[in-house]
Amino acid sequence: MRNSYWFAFLGFIVTCADAFTSAGALLPQNIDLPHELVAAVSRMYDASPSFRAQCGRIAGASNAHVRVRFDIGVRPSCRAITEITRRRGSVCADIRIPPGSASYAEILSHEFEHIIEQLEGLDLRTLSKVRNSGVHEVQRELYETDRAQRAGRLVAEELRLTRSSQRSTD
Ligand SMILES: [Zn+2]
Repeated sequence: MRNSYWFAFLGFIVTCADAFTSAGALLPQNIDLPHELVAAVSRMYDASPSFRAQCGRIAGASNAHVRVRFDIGVRPSCRAITEITRRRGSVCADIRIPPGSASYAEILSHEFEHIIEQLEGLDLRTLSKVRNSGVHEVQRELYETDRAQRAGRLVAEELRLTRSSQRSTD
């Protein structure tokens, strides 16, 4: 089975822990990262204008809380699982990624785009029934969007281009 992302929009589940440490000074204070990812995400922030724009959008949303964590329970065919909960005006996102993944940049920017979709109030359930909307219900109440897939690929590409231009100037 092709690697996939699972994205669940859960309008009714109510948890959002704030117990994690926030990332480095440049990264939004409302994004909590595991320590092991802070350096990699800071590099993404420096190298990718698209990722910076995503971070800026999330940082500007005082109602958004994002937690990223490693989870060995994420099955290998799945690149990440994100649950986004909207409650009393807040958007809480819990992103679980398998440890040891080789593509954090693509995974995180893909999932961040799903968060931005919810900050913009996208109604995935309704859009998934509209032809060519770019929203797909991949399993009951699990959605994928073309937009998130594009965002992930774009940030990974920007990172790759920065790395190769750094190599050519070494
Ligand atoms: Zn997705």
